[in-house]
Amino acid sequence: MKIALVGIGKIAVDQHVPAIANSPDWQLAATVSRAGTVEGVEAFTDIVTMLEARPDITTVSLAIPPVPRFDYAQAAIRAGRHVMLEKPPGATLAEIHALQVLAQAQGVTLYTTWHSRMAHAVAPAKAWLAGKTITRAHITWREDVRKWHPGQDWVFEAGGMGVFDPGINALSILTEILPAPVHLQSADLEFPANRQTPIAARLQFTGNITADFDWRQTGPQTWDMEIDTTEGQMALRMGGNVLEIDGQPAQGENTIMDEYPALYARMAELVAKGQSEVDLAPMVHVADAMTLGKRALTDHFHF
Ligand code: NAP
Repeated sequence: MKIALVGIGKIAVDQHVPAIANSPDWQLAATVSRAGTVEGVEAFTDIVTMLEARPDITTVSLAIPPVPRFDYAQAAIRAGRHVMLEKPPGATLAEIHALQVLAQAQGVTLYTTWHSRMAHAVAPAKAWLAGKTITRAHITWREDVRKWHPGQDWVFEAGGMGVFDPGINALSILTEILPAPVHLQSADLEFPANRQTPIAARLQFTGNITADFDWRQTGPQTWDMEIDTTEGQMALRMGGNVLEIDGQPAQGENTIMDEYPALYARMAELVAKGQSEVDLAPMVHVADAMTLGKRALTDHFHF
């Protein structure tokens, strides 16, 4: 199946292009980007021109930041194309609800991807937790914004979500593996004095679940989740790629390379079955944190 990739930026180059190139299901038939291109692939600078010029391309994958994404998704769905959305799926919950209604009316697939859910140990962790009673859980998601988002001012602009851009990956795993849903009770958010979005967040959920997100960690990066149950302890490390049960390694690999191939395989499956997959649970927690969060100002941030 022919696919167009929109937004030839960091994640497109790092993950989407290689995943599509190695996929048995997809052929990268066009790109849309104001500046980026992929060698040997027809390049467009606006989506409307691409949709009109290439009716043979039935699926569009959007790897642009969340704020501009809605207009692109709407244009593609209105043109009868299946659409795959990077995480977070959009800038607001309501715009994704609108896309969901539109996709259903148009009879096309809409897929809100959550790449961290495809990490090696997420499914085994979910299976281990099934039926167990959780007594405590803590998420530590601390990384270096300069390493993962070099010069990307959009992450600190309204709608860019700040530290929730990576934090939502942790929440996508949490909402996938918990045997029962939880909701946010309070949040403390730290905003750089010269920016619109938080650089750090501490969250308290029901069920004695807490999270610590921070974008100022240099050196080794931490993407851990520790969960205590009445039947033992579980930890997910390396962004959901390594599972430990009662302190002992149980499953997984220290790599994130398979997440995007798994997303494209899932998209092929959804298109073949004529289904959509839209799950906004991780983003509900982020929206709630922005609603309930106490705001503290911290040091100016410059890339
Ligand atoms: P990026 O490199 O800053 O931007 C991606 C592309 O989006 C750029 O090539 C740019 O293309 C286009 N773009 C930027 N602003 C735009 C606008 N206002 N209108 C239209 N196009 C615009 O960002 P990224 O890191 O790839 O992130 C993109 C998405 O992937 C985000 O939702 C992010 O959460 C997700 N993601 C990122 C990472 C990561 O490690 N960075 C990991 C996983 C997921 P042109 O300027 O050439 O048009």
